[in-house]
Amino acid sequence: MIMVAGIVQRAFRMVAKAGAKAVLSVATHNNEALTIARMNACRACPNFDADSQQCGVCGCYMDVKTTLLRNHNPYKGGRIEITHCPEGRWGDAEIANHYRAIDGKELIETN
Ligand code: SF4
Repeated sequence: MIMVAGIVQRAFRMVAKAGAKAVLSVATHNNEALTIARMNACRACPNFDADSQQCGVCGCYMDVKTTLLRNHNPYKGGRIEITHCPEGRWGDAEIANHYRAIDGKELIETN
């Protein structure tokens, strides 16, 4: 029974990720090294859920989001953004701050 539940859970996640990619994706970057670097930063991040592969800040599936160059932000009316870590942990704090300023959020350190 536990094995069946695991299979169903994995199947659900595959469908959810396919849906997430369809909703999020505007353009992919096709740069495997960039995907790996982003995923490594996420795996070391306290906001990362290793079981679901989701970010606790933006809610995205990181194995999808790390492949993107530009994405829709479903929490901002589908706004098209340069894909970034919302906390600048991908070495992209300037980009994160661009959107944080638009959204009236506190800016993060950029050094
Ligand atoms: S996107 Fe940023 S905040 Fe989210 S898990 Fe990855 S490194 Fe952490």
